Amino acid sequence: MLAVVAVEITILGSGSGGNCTYLETARVKLLVDAGFSGKQIATRLASIGRTLEDIDAVLLTHEHNDHTQGLPVLCKRHKIPVFANRLTAELLHEEMPGLETWKIFQTGQPFEIGDVRVESFTVPHDAHDPVGFLLRHDSGNIGILTDLGCTTRLVIERIRPANVLLLETNHDPRLLQDDTARPWSVKQRILSRQGHLSNAAAAEAITQIVHDGLKHVYLGHLSRDCNRPELAYASVAGALQDAGARDVRVEVTSQTDPTPTLMLGAPALTIAQQGHDAVSACVQP
Ligand SMILES: [Zn+2]
Ligand SMILES: [Zn+2]
Repeated sequence: MLAVVAVEITILGSGSGGNCTYLETARVKLLVDAGFSGKQIATRLASIGRTLEDIDAVLLTHEHNDHTQGLPVLCKRHKIPVFANRLTAELLHEEMPGLETWKIFQTGQPFEIGDVRVESFTVPHDAHDPVGFLLRHDSGNIGILTDLGCTTRLVIERIRPANVLLLETNHDPRLLQDDTARPWSVKQRILSRQGHLSNAAAAEAITQIVHDGLKHVYLGHLSRDCNRPELAYASVAGALQDAGARDVRVEVTSQTDPTPTLMLGAPALTIAQQGHDAVSACVQP
């Protein structure tokens, strides 16, 4: 039986220097965050055969620059609607005057963009009203969980239905302590409950999130100076192994290069990873 591929996911880039995720269904093409320059987002989209003109909407997690710096180009030149909660939109409206494509959602209140149902939930982070997302689609659920200092019961409950999860593994606490470039106050901010998840905290989180339906975990938002991909991978993959979850694929994202496109198939959930050229066939055995 052939399963129709219904959602494609490409992490265009993730790290403290910029974050942007691309999601495509039969009906919509979305970005979650726009944390690179417009030109850089366009270049990365081009690598998967897409353009900014294709994008139907941007979803914002929060206002920090590494999630929003592409907005002026995306909104003013390309008139792409931007979905954000009110506090995030108001702040950005002051910082980036002239953006007029806001679509306001209420945190916790689900809404739909095409065939994607968007659920948002509050995360502890030093922004005005930061959120994580669970994007539900008939072929599977995609969770976006970066920029949080710790997990809460609400966060775990809301993200748990994810079949594919982007999870923050920001830093290794020892590398952060030894780092000479950052002042003590910045280190305290990162380590705080409103900061960013360490590798160990992400590993602890995944043991609470993991379930039979979880198939793929992207590790994201790695600090360039205070983390190493192999440390992040070892923490989370080790935790999954200890939990007996041997079928979950773990992939570390990159600040500089998009991940290979991941495909979620329907009606049965099948996941395969291929180059984008293969996607046009839209079928998986
Ligand atoms: Zn960030
Ligand atoms: Zn942030």
